[in-house]
Amino acid sequence: MKNYLKENANKVGINLTEKMLTKFEIFYNLLIETNKLFNLTAITEMHEVVLKHFIDSIMIEKYFKLNDKMDEDNCIYKRVIDVGTGAGFPGIPMSILYPNIEFVLMDSLKKRLNFIENVLEKADINNVLLVHGRAEDLGQNLQYREKFDLCVSRAVASLPVLLELCIPFVRVNGKFVSYKSELLKEELGQSKKALSILHCSLEEQFEYTIPDSELYRVLAIFSKEKKLEKKYPRQAGKPKRNPL
Ligand code: SAM
Repeated sequence: MKNYLKENANKVGINLTEKMLTKFEIFYNLLIETNKLFNLTAITEMHEVVLKHFIDSIMIEKYFKLNDKMDEDNCIYKRVIDVGTGAGFPGIPMSILYPNIEFVLMDSLKKRLNFIENVLEKADINNVLLVHGRAEDLGQNLQYREKFDLCVSRAVASLPVLLELCIPFVRVNGKFVSYKSELLKEELGQSKKALSILHCSLEEQFEYTIPDSELYRVLAIFSKEKKLEKKYPRQAGKPKRNPL
C-alpha cells in the first residue's frame, strides 16, 4: 500500500514522508477492517482506495499549494472544515498532508465519526476535531458559522444544495472547494440563484485525471464575498427538499 501510494503521489508531484505514509497505512487497515462490520465505503480494493480515496483527496494541494504557504507566517489557511466527511474524505488525507492546519470534520452519522476517532488515535493524528451534527444546524451555530478559511466537501449533495450547506461555514473572502466530476457543468447551471443568494462566485475549475487511471475529476473553487443573511442555511432538510 505504502509503495503504491508514494509512487502515485510522486507522479502528481506530491511528496509524502515516511511518517505520513505510515499514517495512511494505519488509516487504510482500519478502513478495511471496520468496513466488514458496517458500511464505510464501497471501494475496498487496495489500488482503488489509494487512487480514488487517498490521491483524490490530496489533489487539492496541486491547486492551493498549501505546503509552500504553510511555512509562511501569513498563511491564510489555518482552519479547514470538511462537511459530510463520511469515512474521512477528503479530511483525513488532508490532515495527514497538512499537520499544521487545524481541521474540523463533521457528519450527521455518529457511527462514521466513531470510526474516524479510532483512526485519529491509532494513527496519532492531532490536528482534527470531530463534530457530530447536520450542516444546516452547525451552520447556524456561532462556534462554526463563518469561522473557516476553507471548506471542502466531496460526494455529499448536488451543488445548489451543497452551497447552502457549506458556504455558511466560510469566512468572508474564504474559499469553498467542491470535489466533483462530470456532473459539475450541469450542476453549475442549476446554481446561479444559490450563488447570488449566498454571496459567492466560482473562482476556478481545477481539472485533473487521477494517476494510473483515466478518471476525470474537477475541483470547483468558490470565493465568498459577503456575510450571509441570518436565515441561511435554512432548517435541516429544507436545502435538499427545496434547493435555492
Ligand atoms: N465525503 C465522504 C466521501 O467522499 O467519501 C463521504 C460521502 S457520503 C456519500 C456522504 C456523507 O455526507 C454521509 O456520511 C452523510 O452522513 C453526510 N451528510 C449528508 N448530508 C449531511 C448533512 N446535511 N449534514 C451533515 N452530514 C451530511
